[in-house]
Amino acid sequence: MSTTHAPTPRPVIAIDGPSGSGKSSTSRGVARALGLRYLDTGAMFRAVTWWMLQAGVDVHDADAVAARAGEPEVVSGTDPDAPTITVDGTDVSVAIRSDEVNAAVSPVSAVPQVRARLLELQRAAIGDGGIVVEGRDIGSVVAPDADVKVFLTADPAARAARRALEEGGSDVAATEASLLARDAIDSTRRTAPLVQADGAVQLDTTGYSLEEVVAQVVELVRAVESPA
Ligand code: C5P
Repeated sequence: MSTTHAPTPRPVIAIDGPSGSGKSSTSRGVARALGLRYLDTGAMFRAVTWWMLQAGVDVHDADAVAARAGEPEVVSGTDPDAPTITVDGTDVSVAIRSDEVNAAVSPVSAVPQVRARLLELQRAAIGDGGIVVEGRDIGSVVAPDADVKVFLTADPAARAARRALEEGGSDVAATEASLLARDAIDSTRRTAPLVQADGAVQLDTTGYSLEEVVAQVVELVRAVESPA
């Protein structure tokens, strides 16, 4: 039997979308289901932001952030069952989820020097594939040749409710305000804004369970691997 597509033994799967759209849970679920690695690029931006705050850098001063962007050593582990993130050897997996980091991460992520440094690390982690990568610019900038690109969306209220639950029952209205503020900055920045990439399939997760969304993405990957 001949096909027009080469098989994709080491696929790259790009999962983008706004805050709280279900990217992390979906990406980890898809990676587990398919035996792939998993990279959380949001955690990398959060780690740099945490470092800037620790170093006393004014995160709203783009020049100050740019001047220090080369300093933090960010290392990401890619096991979907136990993703890790360290900065200069310190485990920051809990610290990067704080309100302070939530409030500072979008301005830091808008700085081109921060993005350029993390882009290198992200491409190195992707290597020759076999990975699910989640973020805001994966399908558009980091891995434009990804085998499957997904753009996850959900109603803001549903996104806030999920995120508040993940954060251990924080105030849903405050969570919604925080994620909409981040979305506004992420969507309007000049470098690598949050957009639906060319060729991305949009999935609105509002009415679906995690299992259903994972199954839909796995189906997209299988369709690419074995085209009808
Ligand atoms: O995915 P998460 O909500 O943890 O991302 C935190 C922030 O990191 C985003 O609001 C955005 O500012 C930034 N980010 C980014 N590009 C990515 C991933 C995250 O700018 N690929």
